[in-house]
Amino acid sequence: MTDRDLSSEARLAFSRLALLIDGQWLDAQQRRGEPVLDPASEDALGVLPYATLADLDRAAEAAQRAFQSWSRTTATERRKYLLAASALLRERAEKIAHILSLEQGKPLAEARAELTGAIEIFEWYAEEVRRLYGRTIPPRAPNVLQTVSHEPIGPVAAFTPWNFPALTPARKIAGALAAGCTLVIKPAEETPGTAIELARACVDAGVPEGVLNLVFGVPHEISETLIRHSAIRKVTFTGSIPVGKHLAELAAAHGLKPCTLELGGHAPVLVCADADIAHAAQACAAARYRNAGQVCVAASRFYVQHEVHDAFVEAFSAAADALTVGGGLEAETTMGPLTNQRRLDAMSRYVNDARERNAQVHRGGERLARPGWFFAPTVISGLGDDALAMREETFGPVAAISSFDDLDEGISRANALPYGLAAYAFTRSARTSERIARDLRAGMIGINHFAVSLAEAPFGGVGESGYGSEGGSEGLHAYLTPRFVTRLLM
Ligand code: NAD
Repeated sequence: MTDRDLSSEARLAFSRLALLIDGQWLDAQQRRGEPVLDPASEDALGVLPYATLADLDRAAEAAQRAFQSWSRTTATERRKYLLAASALLRERAEKIAHILSLEQGKPLAEARAELTGAIEIFEWYAEEVRRLYGRTIPPRAPNVLQTVSHEPIGPVAAFTPWNFPALTPARKIAGALAAGCTLVIKPAEETPGTAIELARACVDAGVPEGVLNLVFGVPHEISETLIRHSAIRKVTFTGSIPVGKHLAELAAAHGLKPCTLELGGHAPVLVCADADIAHAAQACAAARYRNAGQVCVAASRFYVQHEVHDAFVEAFSAAADALTVGGGLEAETTMGPLTNQRRLDAMSRYVNDARERNAQVHRGGERLARPGWFFAPTVISGLGDDALAMREETFGPVAAISSFDDLDEGISRANALPYGLAAYAFTRSARTSERIARDLRAGMIGINHFAVSLAEAPFGGVGESGYGSEGGSEGLHAYLTPRFVTRLLM
């Protein structure tokens, strides 16, 4: 199929947006709906049906019913379902990448890479579930047998954001299903098309009715209804800190339900004087402008040792100049639009604040004069630590650069915020690398590169970035609870 055919197929998918409850695809019927907008044009792509309160109850009850049998399937059976779903996703990857790029805005090459990552997550959990070992504990008496097994925790309520419409739902769906849990997932209303395709692959792979339920609607209505529901035993959320805290309070108030919270950060990057500056600037710019900066582990605030500061800013600005900003499906695009108007407004706030503080705006700083939520790749230096762009997760294409004198200062400024998702450093010294690996406060640390998001590695933060991990064997254990059984043999 040509790119043009794939684009029209992707557009067609938005005329069939639906909820999935207890194995049934449900379209608008009597439900209210909201338009899904193309971030590159602000035009409507389709209308998304919103779940009613009765729909949400049905979804939670379906997940509870399905849990009775799904939790008793063998690891080998669950592996087969996950591998069948991932095979279908591979077959459909090109079409889904077009849907993803259209609704979220990222360039097609990034959409393809994201989808590959999502498929790898299904495959990883399919394999990892076969190693779901328990253990025996040496007894205190010869006629006692003591075992620990890992049991699925129960039906899960999952909430995912719009910046990675394939990767974030894949982490939650594949992790929960592998563990023997059922789920009701609410992906972002901005980007429903990709999540619907993930769910379709699971259904077509034979995942039984009620095991995976997909709903959209008014976010707070859905979380309040699902988290209060007695069927739900676990909450997992990826999104902003205030919403994460609110959901954790609800989960505590209604059954002390355990949570996994991935709440973003404001990842610092230390660029030391002994680093390969050309490599560092190129890699940092790529990590800052990927997905137009809307990445929770994005390189976000840059501390550059003063000897190499100017050279770094120059090389970084040249990398920003080399970007081609445009719609995700336009062939030359290397940076797409922001996904919603909220991010566009936030970028103007960061730049205005920097200008008021007499920082230097080397590149960008403006919305692009064309329809769609486009903001120019922006480079700002000379910011103090009290500037908004140094304190708040910018989540957009604004690079905030500051300089530091010695490593102690760099580390202490990098650690000064309450967040701790990812942190990075560039250095050629093994001793500095080790010091940084030990002293930066974050759940994930990258030295001389940014590859921290892998199916096989734990992904999660500390402090206000949340708690719990997705990915790696830790991601499977997020949906399990240990059961200790001791038997006195008679
Ligand atoms: P947000 O927290 O309002 O929305 C993120 C997701 O959470 C969306 O899908 C939204 O539908 C959902 N959500 C919002 N309120 C909810 C509620 N009461 N119950 C259940 N789900 C709810 O964030 P936003 O306005 O879209 O973005 C603002 C900031 O959030 C960003 O600047 C960024 O800092 C952070 N963010 C982080 C991530 C991440 O990957 N950790 C992703 C998106 C946004």
